[in-house]
Amino acid sequence: MVTGETPVTWSASDSSQPALRRVLVTGATGQDGSYLVDRLASERAEVHALVRPGDDAAAALIEQHPEIALHTGDLADPARLAAVVAATEPDEIYHLAGISSVAQSWQQPVATGTVTGLATAALLQSAWELSQRAGRPVAFVQAASGEIFGNPAASPQDESTPIAPVNPYGAAKAYAHHLVGVYRGRGLHACSAILYNHESPRRPDTFVTRKITRTVAAIARGDADQLVLGNLDARRDWGWAPDYVDAMMCAARHDRAGDYVIATGRGHTVWDFVAAAFAAAGIGDWAGHVRTDPALYRPVDATELVGDSGKARRELGWAPTVEFDEIVARMVRADLDVPMH
Ligand code: GDP
Repeated sequence: MVTGETPVTWSASDSSQPALRRVLVTGATGQDGSYLVDRLASERAEVHALVRPGDDAAAALIEQHPEIALHTGDLADPARLAAVVAATEPDEIYHLAGISSVAQSWQQPVATGTVTGLATAALLQSAWELSQRAGRPVAFVQAASGEIFGNPAASPQDESTPIAPVNPYGAAKAYAHHLVGVYRGRGLHACSAILYNHESPRRPDTFVTRKITRTVAAIARGDADQLVLGNLDARRDWGWAPDYVDAMMCAARHDRAGDYVIATGRGHTVWDFVAAAFAAAGIGDWAGHVRTDPALYRPVDATELVGDSGKARRELGWAPTVEFDEIVARMVRADLDVPMH
């Protein structure tokens, strides 16, 4: 960890200054957090990672990035969150932690409200107090979700689409998203990145994409025979996770704070994903390997979530870089190297 140096403040127009941003990342051991820490490390930022007490993945993170500072803290403990922000005095805060899957939120609706929703209030308030005390900007980026739009009447969705979540995860993210707007109104450089589904070989298999690619890889190796899924007709907008991390960094460093839909604009069904995964594994006659189980259907499921990222493209100069088939192929290739446990 770098110590004893004064953090510099930044402006979006000045890319020549020596980078020594102090950055606080919550959820650093998750998919997006790990890519973000990789990016921040490569620009020599001073990275502070907030991890859950007892998070098994923290050891691997620190092994990969011995230069970062780890802080343990529970998102359900607002005093601890405030203390970490006050102690680290970050220039940028990326709030990525929380219960991150819709499926899990139906199992744990109360915990989802606390850690995915309320923790944002503690972090925003602490960021605002820091900006007042230090007399400098503190950029805050909330990882929001297309799930805040629920089961929208129109597709694709953009920043003006009505917020009407249909599951506990979406409701918690909607609260956090609204609060970002509240603190932006109070003068904080607070941004909400409305992230649509974004995938990679680091995606946990609570998500359908990784479940599919791991199981298809296992079938290709002869270690499994059946891929058992829920709703195959759901249509999602799947992007490449590192692109979405780039979008959050662009939002933090843009001269004006705002909300941005981050998406590819292309929808595919779960069935399309399955077909692409078998194709990537070189398995032709695959229909007999796939079946559905009603137990895996959600109580309420959005039929189509596809985002219009026009604002991010115009204002941030952001664009997705990896096509659907290539995302699937990269995930399958990664899983073909790793045995399923
Ligand atoms: P989400 O969009 O954040 O809920 O991401 P997921 O990857 O968990 O789910 C995407 C879609 O896949 C949803 O419409 C699910 O209903 C559907 N789906 C179908 N089968 C499965 C499954 O076995 N697991 C999961 N997680 N989702 C499934």
